[in-house]
Amino acid sequence: MMRGIRVIGLMVAVLGWGTGVMSAAERPVPVFEELPFGTVRPGGWIQAQLERDAATGVLPDFDKFCTAVQRRVFASKAGAPKGQNSTEYWFYDGAHEGYWMDSLARASILSQDEALLEKAEDFVNYLLESQEENGYLGVYPPELRLSHVGDDEEFCTAGWTYMGLLAWYEGTGDARVLEAVERAMGWYMDHYNRGKQSYFSRPEVPFVSGPVSHGLVLTEVAHTLYRITGNEAYRDYMLWIYEDFEQGNAGGDDIKLKRLLDPTRAATQHGVHWTEQLRIPVWAWYATGDPKYREAAEAAWDKTREALLPSFCVMSDEGVGRERRLPTPETAYEYCDTMELTASALYTAEKTGESRFADLAERCFFNAAQAGRLPDGTANSYFTIDNRYAMPPEPATRFRHNAGHYWYRPVQGPPCCSFLMFRIAPYYTKMMWMKTADGGGLAAVAYGPSRVSTKVNGTGVTIREETDYPFSDTIRFTVEVERPVSFELWLRRPGWARREGEAREALTPEAALLRDRTRAHRASQADMTVTAPDAAIRKDGDYWVVSKQWKSGHTVTVEFSPVVEKALAANGEYALRRGSLVYALSIPAEETCLQVWKTGGAGEVITPGEALGGLEETVIEADPDSRLQSRKYTPKEGAEWTYWIHAVPHGKGARQDFEPVALEGDPLNPWEEPTCGLRGRMVNGAGEEIPLTLVPMGSTILRRTTFPKDNP
Ligand SMILES: [Zn+2]
Repeated sequence: MMRGIRVIGLMVAVLGWGTGVMSAAERPVPVFEELPFGTVRPGGWIQAQLERDAATGVLPDFDKFCTAVQRRVFASKAGAPKGQNSTEYWFYDGAHEGYWMDSLARASILSQDEALLEKAEDFVNYLLESQEENGYLGVYPPELRLSHVGDDEEFCTAGWTYMGLLAWYEGTGDARVLEAVERAMGWYMDHYNRGKQSYFSRPEVPFVSGPVSHGLVLTEVAHTLYRITGNEAYRDYMLWIYEDFEQGNAGGDDIKLKRLLDPTRAATQHGVHWTEQLRIPVWAWYATGDPKYREAAEAAWDKTREALLPSFCVMSDEGVGRERRLPTPETAYEYCDTMELTASALYTAEKTGESRFADLAERCFFNAAQAGRLPDGTANSYFTIDNRYAMPPEPATRFRHNAGHYWYRPVQGPPCCSFLMFRIAPYYTKMMWMKTADGGGLAAVAYGPSRVSTKVNGTGVTIREETDYPFSDTIRFTVEVERPVSFELWLRRPGWARREGEAREALTPEAALLRDRTRAHRASQADMTVTAPDAAIRKDGDYWVVSKQWKSGHTVTVEFSPVVEKALAANGEYALRRGSLVYALSIPAEETCLQVWKTGGAGEVITPGEALGGLEETVIEADPDSRLQSRKYTPKEGAEWTYWIHAVPHGKGARQDFEPVALEGDPLNPWEEPTCGLRGRMVNGAGEEIPLTLVPMGSTILRRTTFPKDNP
């Protein structure tokens, strides 16, 4: 891993954020622009996973179990019972109802599940009905607004809720929802703004805790409203929120400029704050052209890279804690981090056009996010570990006392990590495709089975991306157009496809052909092969750009030929990966049912204690009628995972000791039944060579992901 990163770092120095040299205060031009939610639809395994989650996962029953979304506090403004009349806990339900709105809107629209769509529409209507004459759309009664002293979630409740409402607006075209969100943001902009009240400065309190700094997510609403309406007041508000945070005393402040620009300060704070905030300096740089934001954005991503686990999530058993430890594969990550890191990376890929961010998004989604959930969507783990030998882990770790956080559970407590399991595939899908900044092209930024339908150069265009990627090395794009139209199709060149040591600009015969932009039929570099009949193909930064006059039925085929890489992990061991997939040895496991969540109705829920918590280990009889169970896993008797990677000569001409192999799996459910693996040999404790097949780590429950090298 470290080796690859150095090469990528070098590339950045050469390419520099995709924008060339800027003079101060000149706004850089983003390379791509987001498309509205709903423009990109999932296909293949992603669609199948979303449909399964919506139909038989925990999602359709989630509100029966999760008390944090049941009280409808936008309407009652009665706060969570925990806080009674205290402002301290007033926020809790509001923030979770916001997460619920965003989950419902996105998952229902992409899955087109009827029951879920109905539930989402009901929740939208409830929220809109709760809006006051003055525009306020939130959970606080009038006397508690604008007077927060300690903890509150005024801003993040609005942030998550309005993102869900905007997705609903874009996915359904319901104009009253956009109007409601604009009025609601208007209330915040009228009260918390330049020359008005600060949100993040609370001088009367010595320390303002993390829930307040989640409020930075309101920048995402401002950013999205600016994209939708073009109203610069929203862009300015996004900047004000970040500036206000800089001046304020809210805790969890690694994303402040003064902290980012301090090279001695690593990412330390709660990982979810960090990963959800990473995108903000990038937005600020593109909104202002102020070089301090560019430096801050680069620093934020550098510090992220230093905390990356082999599965491509940041370590975060609540805190990142990079100042005192390395991201070893025994360190947990919180499920929320997978979603927020993926989204931040894609937002950054949009602006910069740099492949390394889309590479990270793919890898985080395909590895860390899948490795922390069950393929059927009935449960995920709050904390997940790359080398997961038992669940919960042994020996004791920092959070061993909270064993439930390591179990697979239908509802996590706190339930943030459950919501983010529902949200990650929709955010990934949305940003797989983008338009080029000049509007004259479409870009496949992150790969996977999908379909994009939009207008390009005034003409309706649909591109179908048919592939089993990342389980397959081949992608076929089929274009449908209202009438023949010329535009550019941008195809990302993944960093992993570029062989180490390869001179990127080397003029192979194929590359020479690319120089001749007329009728380049087949472009083949070492990195990938693009086949596009009668098209001109050129390289632009991290993309191949295919230009032609497109007619319906035209196709473009992309083929990768990734090598098996041994990536050094922070514990000195190596993870095996190929393309964007990380592979692991699956450890045969015994499953223990700990809790059963009956789906018949709220009255039938069987859990120890409060459904939200229920962390104590209570082994109860499995209910065969309920698919929703909390489970823990222990290795089966005799299971073995103590192996060394067999030492073989490396470098040019070395034989590969692991080779890709096709497995008889299910292409629509590859995380349950993998369709590909790596087959090779490792050495056991007795020095014997053992043939083994590794599978994508997202297909495993207990697993070993990194292995030491034996002595040559
Ligand atoms: Zn979480």
